[in-house]
Amino acid sequence: MSNPCIKCGKQRIDGKSWKEKSGNSTIFYTKTICPDSACQKLLDQETADRIAKNELILKNKAEAKLAREKLLASN
Ligand SMILES: [Zn+2]
Repeated sequence: MSNPCIKCGKQRIDGKSWKEKSGNSTIFYTKTICPDSACQKLLDQETADRIAKNELILKNKAEAKLAREKLLASN
């Protein structure tokens, strides 16, 4: 199974693994990381940025929805 790093193309390696309970079953997760720690650090940063951006978009959407509802309620 090939799982190259999207940044540098090196074969990604297994990093952290953990298990989570989902109902009656336990699901095992393995996070793959880039063997190049500097590259992985950049990837982590980009992931964090992307999550923050998504949260901001969701927040703005929620606020826009609230504003719209307020406007409708005032009419
Ligand atoms: Zn990499």
